[in-house]
Amino acid sequence: MGIKERKMSKIIYADNAATTPVSPQVLQEMLPYFTENYGNASTVYSVGRGNRSAIAKARKQVADAIGAVDSEIYFTAGGSESDNWAVKGVAKKQAEKGKKHLITTKIEHHAILHTMEALEKEGFEVTYLPVDSCGLVTPQQVEAAIRPDTALVSVMYANNEIGTIEPIGEIGEVCRRHGVIFHTDAVQAVGSVEINVKEQNIDLLSMSGHKFNAPKGIGALYIRKGIQLINLIDGGSQEKGKRAGTENVPGIVGLGKAIELATSDIPAKAEKLKEMRDIVIRKALSLPKSRLNGHPENRLPGNANFCFEGIEGEGMLLKLDGLGICAASGSACTSASLDPSHVLLAIGLPHEIAHGSLRITFSDANTTEEAEFIGDRIIQVVTELRKMSPVWED
Ligand SMILES: *Cc1c(COP(=O)(O)O)cnc(C)c1O
Repeated sequence: MGIKERKMSKIIYADNAATTPVSPQVLQEMLPYFTENYGNASTVYSVGRGNRSAIAKARKQVADAIGAVDSEIYFTAGGSESDNWAVKGVAKKQAEKGKKHLITTKIEHHAILHTMEALEKEGFEVTYLPVDSCGLVTPQQVEAAIRPDTALVSVMYANNEIGTIEPIGEIGEVCRRHGVIFHTDAVQAVGSVEINVKEQNIDLLSMSGHKFNAPKGIGALYIRKGIQLINLIDGGSQEKGKRAGTENVPGIVGLGKAIELATSDIPAKAEKLKEMRDIVIRKALSLPKSRLNGHPENRLPGNANFCFEGIEGEGMLLKLDGLGICAASGSACTSASLDPSHVLLAIGLPHEIAHGSLRITFSDANTTEEAEFIGDRIIQVVTELRKMSPVWED
């Protein structure tokens, strides 16, 4: 298909766990901060002062969305940066007191796993908790792994591949009881599930704007008052001197507006997402030798992840792309490699099956008609590919 025809045919975007477009309302809110309101927020003249209050407003919007206080919100350049800062920042501070043990899970995003590996090279010890076949880790597992020298527990709120939602409140309770700092990568959860950092005993929480219709390259880290961690960037006094550098004012304004919109009516949005998700699940599971990965109920409302025996994820993606459907296999970051997803291996799938995964992730911009279409096309594509597969026998 040439570029021209491609432009004319409608694209169905069902890869919202990878990224989302900036919504028109968010863009509208941001635009003045590129042109009229360009003043440096650290200056005394009015163009700069206006930016200072815009940043303050966004900080409050982010805080309100997760039950925090605005002084506990620090703007960053996204989810990976927030994760790096939380884990390295706390680990290095705690190491000063001789605490050099970290606890996490085997199914974290690479922004956590590779950070943990980097710390291992610096002499930290990391416990990687296994998960069950649905991708769940239990508070009991966390409790059993805590030692006197444990510096930090980091467990993701919801998994980006299989959508499983972890028992964050219960894990937070365990950590608080043992006096251990608790971080959660909530990049996939913000805007999809209700979060309250105080009720859930969360000490640090990472989020990323581009997963909920703010731009790429802006995010935030919630750091509970009293939690100590080393500075991310030394320099000026921005972000209380912990993350220096002239603020990304348009991005910050966009993040504030986007999180307000994304969290304004989560129950209604989740209901709509679940309906679409369940349409695709019902259709896909009508195929023989197909399975739904992740927890059947405790999963992100917009996430469906499947394995179809006998076929490769890449082949499915290409065929679906030809039909105008954007989906994912494994995770976007690893699709260039031939390794099966570490998440699918962690839930116990054998290598050959873990290669055949397909992830569909909806946003509230999708429709039930699109879900029906995707479900039907999955049936069509899997059936076609299996006919051609040397390893598949009916
Ligand atoms: C996307 C994602 C990240 C990385 O966020 P960026 O803003 O792209 O750096 C981290 N963790 C999870 C769970 C994610 O889904």
